[in-house]
Amino acid sequence: MKSFLNVSNKKFHCPRCGNINIVEYDKSVECPLCSKEFSKEDLEHLNDEDVLSLEEKKAFLDIFGDKDIYD
Ligand SMILES: [Zn+2]
Repeated sequence: MKSFLNVSNKKFHCPRCGNINIVEYDKSVECPLCSKEFSKEDLEHLNDEDVLSLEEKKAFLDIFGDKDIYD
């Protein structure tokens, strides 16, 4: 079982499909194949399967009423 996780902190890939041709923003990256955006911080600190897209995280946070993190 090979993982992409040993890639150094410079290059990001999509945690869902493994695509490395992703759009890199200041604090996040977006996978054009999945149409999902992920926090770079999450990608650096979490295993792929634990990374939630920003959309998913926002939905999650909405449930708990804590919306401060994204502004
Ligand atoms: Zn993807």
